Amino acid sequence: MDIALRYARSKGDKYHEYFIEAQLNVLDRILEGEPYYASTFYIPGEWTPLLDRPVLYMERISGFAAANRLVRHLSDKRVQASTPGCDCTYQLMFQCLLDEGLIPPPSGYLAMSYACNNAFSFSKASAARYDVPCYSINVPRIPNMHTISDLGRSLARMGASLNVCLDSDRLTNAIKLSNSALAIKNQIDQLRILYPGILDATDGFKLFTIYNDLGSNHAVAVLEQLLATIEKRISGYRPPLGSKWIWLGVIPLYRNNLLMETECRLGGRFVYEELFSFGDLEPIQADSFYKDLARRIVNSHFFSVQRRADFIMDIAAKMGVEGIVCFSQRNCSFLPPTVPYLRRTLKSTGMAFMDFTGDVIDPNYFDEGKYWLTMEEWTGMQNGGACRVR
Ligand code: SF4
Repeated sequence: MDIALRYARSKGDKYHEYFIEAQLNVLDRILEGEPYYASTFYIPGEWTPLLDRPVLYMERISGFAAANRLVRHLSDKRVQASTPGCDCTYQLMFQCLLDEGLIPPPSGYLAMSYACNNAFSFSKASAARYDVPCYSINVPRIPNMHTISDLGRSLARMGASLNVCLDSDRLTNAIKLSNSALAIKNQIDQLRILYPGILDATDGFKLFTIYNDLGSNHAVAVLEQLLATIEKRISGYRPPLGSKWIWLGVIPLYRNNLLMETECRLGGRFVYEELFSFGDLEPIQADSFYKDLARRIVNSHFFSVQRRADFIMDIAAKMGVEGIVCFSQRNCSFLPPTVPYLRRTLKSTGMAFMDFTGDVIDPNYFDEGKYWLTMEEWTGMQNGGACRVR
C-alpha cells in the first residue's frame, strides 16, 4: 500500500493519493497493535470518526490483498482455513490474512446482513472463533412501510452499544462532511452523464468503496480532487467513437486493467460502472440521523431488483449506451440472483447484454480466454456482425 501511495504521489494523482493514504493510516494503526473493528459494507462511515478504534472494512482489505496477490492458491486454503459459514472468497481472503498473520484478529465485528448475508454470517462465526463481540443488524430484504423505521431503530441500538454519542460536535461534523461528500459525488455523476467516458471506469472501480468513508475528511478531499480532474478535462472532451458500455458488478481485482484492455482491443468505452453510483441520496440531518441512514440504505437502487433495473436503464438511455456487461461473483448471494431479471428486462428494451460468472478474488475461477472470445463475438454483433477487434 505504501508503494501504491508513492506511485500515486509521483503521478500527481491526488484523488488516488488521498484515498490510499487514508487506507494506509488505518492499516498502520492496526499493524501497530491498536484494537480494531472488522466491518461489513454499509456500516455507516459517519460512525467511524466517533468510535474508540479504527474500522477495517473486510471487503476492502480482501480486495487489496487480491489485487496484490498476497495470498496464493486461495482455493487450497478453503479447507485449511475452515472458513466459517461462507462461500464467498472475499471472506475466505480475510480469514487467510488473519490465519497467515498478515493482520491481527479484530477486537470486534460490525455486521449488517445487507448487502451481504455471507459477510454477516462470517462475522458472527469469526467473532465466536476469536471470542470477541459482534455488533450486528439483520436487515429485512423485503421493504415495506416499516422497513426504514425498523432499520433506523436497529442502527440506533447498535450505535448506542458502540457508545456513539448523538449529541456531539464530532457527529455534527461527520454529518456535515458526509453531506458535502455526497453533494460533490452528485456533481461528478452529472458530469459523467453529460460527458460519457470523461472518467475511466477503472478509476471508478478504484474509488467506489469511498462510500464507506462518508463522514471523514478524506472522502471530501478525494471527491473534490476527482471533480476538479473531471472539470479540467471538459474543455478537451471528445465523445467516444465506438460503442458505449456499462459494467455491472465488480471486476476481477487481480486484473485491474481488464476494462482498459477491453476498450483498446474491442474499440468501445465503458462509460459507467454501477458500483461507483450511490444514487441520488438525500442529505442526512442530525435530528433524524438514524432514520436518514436507514433511508439511504433502503432507497439505494441495489435494494430492489426493479429499482436496480430502472436505474441502469435510465443511465443507459441518458448516456446513449449500446451494451451492458455484467460480471457476477461466484457464490455471491447479493447481485447475481438479480441477473436473469436484468437480462430479460434490459434485452426487452433492445439493449445488448452479456453476463459472465467468475471470481474477482481468486484467479483460478476466471477463464480469461473465454472472456475475450465472448466479448469479441458480442461486440462484433453490436457492430453489424463485423467484429471490430483491434
Ligand atoms: S461478493 Fe457478494 S457475497 Fe461476496 S462479499 Fe460481496 S456481496 Fe458478499
